[in-house]
Amino acid sequence: MNHEERNRLLTGMVTCRRDIHAHPEPGWMEYRTASLVAARLSALGYEVATGEQAIRSEARMGVPDAATLRFHEEKALREGVDPFWLERMKGGHTAVVGVLRGLKPGPVIALRFDMDCVEIGESDAPDHLPCQLGFSSNRSGLMHACGHDGHVAIGLGVAEMIAGRRSELAGEVRLLFQPAEEGCRGAKAMVEVGWLDGADYFLCGHIGLKSRILGEIVASVDGFLSTTKIDAMFRGKEAHAGNSPELGSNALLAACTAALHLHGISRHSEGATRVNVGMLEGGSGRNVIPGEARMKLELRGETEALNEYMARETSRILASAASMYGVSCEWETVGRGISAEGDRSLIPMIEQECAGMDTVVSFVPSIPFGASEDATFMLRKVQEQGGRGVYMLFGSPLAAGHHQSSFDFDERVLGIAAELIVRLVFACRNGAAVSDPAMHTNSKE
Ligand SMILES: [Zn+2]
Ligand SMILES: [Zn+2]
Repeated sequence: MNHEERNRLLTGMVTCRRDIHAHPEPGWMEYRTASLVAARLSALGYEVATGEQAIRSEARMGVPDAATLRFHEEKALREGVDPFWLERMKGGHTAVVGVLRGLKPGPVIALRFDMDCVEIGESDAPDHLPCQLGFSSNRSGLMHACGHDGHVAIGLGVAEMIAGRRSELAGEVRLLFQPAEEGCRGAKAMVEVGWLDGADYFLCGHIGLKSRILGEIVASVDGFLSTTKIDAMFRGKEAHAGNSPELGSNALLAACTAALHLHGISRHSEGATRVNVGMLEGGSGRNVIPGEARMKLELRGETEALNEYMARETSRILASAASMYGVSCEWETVGRGISAEGDRSLIPMIEQECAGMDTVVSFVPSIPFGASEDATFMLRKVQEQGGRGVYMLFGSPLAAGHHQSSFDFDERVLGIAAELIVRLVFACRNGAAVSDPAMHTNSKE
């Protein structure tokens, strides 16, 4: 790619990123973002699937209630979102898939980009770049504080570059724009529609995280933790705290007891585990025995088995704490991620493509992650059918860490990530990834 072409694409991606940054949307309500994506992919000549063609409704986790969804749908309409696309996405079906087929047979390559924002308000500090340049979030309490605005921009940049080289394309490229990554809620439901079926390669990545140098590429993140996100509700009985406390059953104390014991679940000899009660609220007033308490917690484990161990212990503790105080407790799983490892056999191909880019200044073959991502459902699905995949990191300095109100990244990372992904798509097509034919039995080339 020549210098001029590179600059033109980067300018387009930066404009797109800033527009999406100014209009952050939380999981399952990415109506504006997803409509923009669908319209753009369609204009570029991709076959576009959205709504229930892109995501299995019943497999979605942590979907907001109907009234909240409707509120965001109406808001999107007022903001001028194309009703053609919005109509197809109603009810929280905000996934978009764009498919481009080459003229010759070749591998099926799936790429994934997540679209949702974080539920945190954006800093209004004068030195926060999005404020300075006038593209900070226009929605209070919501912000693209993880970089998914950048991921959407990268995805559309990749879509444009691949479409521009369609005559060279063999096989099939599927661009998966996923809703609700935060809380690990969306990926599994896209896998269940079949968008990873028959995929030979899966490429995915994230801006920043553990890679904080512009121009650094981490080829494969390893050691994703399996995770379960749970919402629990304790219900007891309210009573006058002065004249009849004995008539109440204290839901708040049951929840507090559960929180302490959850953090006391024994560590496991077979590997790392985590637990975090991240939110606990209950009661209605100083002189009322609390009749209700709500808790949001998450569990993690190095393996599926370890995460299941944490889930079993959690069930026991929630039920026991409720029973101790004579209250009820109901809980539901609102997010899930599984453990996964990238395919090391793809690392040499990524290194080779990085070597051809003067914008890449540092190459890291792999690093352990120690966190969770639901792209692992997609990676695992591709691997189970004999394909290969990686989760990369696109390095960038960050103004503040992820999920913080002053989060921001260096926009030049958009161009680097998009160029690398496009190079990899064509390298896979050319069979450069087949370093050991025995390891790649699923090739359709
Ligand atoms: Zn995040
Ligand atoms: Zn993220």
